[in-house]
Amino acid sequence: MVRVRFAPSPTGFLHIGGARTYIFNWLYARQMGGTVVLRIDDTDLERNTEASRQSIFDGLGWLDLGWDELYSQSERVAHHRQAAQALLEKGFAYRDFTPAGAEETVERWLFNPGQREIPREESDRRAAAGEPFAVRFRVPRESVAEVRFEDAVYGPQARSTGDIEDFALARSGGTPTYHLASCADDADLHITHIIRGQDHLANTFKHLLIFEGLGAERPQLAHLPLLLAPDGSKLSKRRHGQAVSVTSYRDAGFLPHAFVNFLSLLGWSPKDNREVLTRQELVELFSFEGINRNNAVVSYQENEPEHWADPKALWLNTQHLRAMPIDELLPYVERELRRAGLWNETYSGEQREWFARTVDLIRTRYSTLVDFSRRGAAYFSDRFPIEPAAQAKLDHPGARELLHELGDRLAGSAEFNEQSVERELRVLAGERGVKAGVIINAARAALSGQSVGPSAFAVFAAVGRERVLKRLRNSA
Ligand code: GLU
Repeated sequence: MVRVRFAPSPTGFLHIGGARTYIFNWLYARQMGGTVVLRIDDTDLERNTEASRQSIFDGLGWLDLGWDELYSQSERVAHHRQAAQALLEKGFAYRDFTPAGAEETVERWLFNPGQREIPREESDRRAAAGEPFAVRFRVPRESVAEVRFEDAVYGPQARSTGDIEDFALARSGGTPTYHLASCADDADLHITHIIRGQDHLANTFKHLLIFEGLGAERPQLAHLPLLLAPDGSKLSKRRHGQAVSVTSYRDAGFLPHAFVNFLSLLGWSPKDNREVLTRQELVELFSFEGINRNNAVVSYQENEPEHWADPKALWLNTQHLRAMPIDELLPYVERELRRAGLWNETYSGEQREWFARTVDLIRTRYSTLVDFSRRGAAYFSDRFPIEPAAQAKLDHPGARELLHELGDRLAGSAEFNEQSVERELRVLAGERGVKAGVIINAARAALSGQSVGPSAFAVFAAVGRERVLKRLRNSA
């Protein structure tokens, strides 16, 4: 039974690199029918913040990829201490009574002189007398050996024990270190696959020593390439602003599954190099072999505060927006319209069909959900801006008069649908000796505030007779 875990530390907002790690864990677990464990690594009491914890839940909640089990490391400290005790008892660890700050004086520090050799009885006695100590792993030194493992992404890995220091398992005062807490939990929660950023690759040698000391089964390891900015630097909030925070994408109107698609392609690709993938397709196609060892670049648009997102993320969002089943899209559009104060309760009632048809009509031109409230405002409200290019169409000589006249004719016609509007409009153009395009463009501008969009006749039908007449007559 596959069991994976995502173990964020709540010391900052949820970073897109963290979200990508979570997604890969999730895809693998779902493919294998396994279990996803979310473990909040909150043992660093000084750096943890509630806001950060909240941002992890907000971000992961928005991605809509649920977990099966949830733990907080801070509630498991007794268990970590037991693990340290077990390692001490089995001789895999020892107490180091060196006062804090007095170590690391030698050039390549491996252990504090004299501490490894303190006999067990003396060590117990000093501890019982209240002398402070750290607990260190006793890395084998008698003969140099290699710690080896096969990483599912980076291949065979080896490090000599001569290059691994007697790392701390617990600090003076008893606080478990990340290495101990993480491994004790991974063992206790029966994690079978550790999938995490490659910045932890070097820690893995230590972790394998701990697993061995605990008598736990070795999990499989898969490390993921890092996400970098275009200049090769690590993504950071200070330098790359919104582009690194998951919730910025939510707020900018991304669809969660399009964003999941985007993050999945940062460092992974399916065999056939397809790019637009549904969640189900991602689950089916995901594989460790498809993960690239090179770090992946996020094309943050540095000088464009309005368009900071990677163009590929926007492109994928556009593709999903067009292709997804309309009934799945409607709740997202509803939420966006509510946020913007443009939601009318009748859209979910008697006008439900009209709402679905209208969203279906306009979505083909949009790239984010926010477009529905900005560029699509005219469909959902009488207050909408006329963009400059549309204004130019309205200002075309004679255009306004033609719109007024069209309004009068449509008011008097028996029918009102795409065909009847088109007929009236073309008759009018013929009688006045103007190109139909002049009226069509001006009408689209007056009705939607936009210079481009769906077929103008479809716009007439979507806006509806009453509002059309008002807008054509008011276009003065
Ligand atoms: N809390 C660690 C981190 O956020 C977890 C690393 C791991 O997956 O072991 O980096």
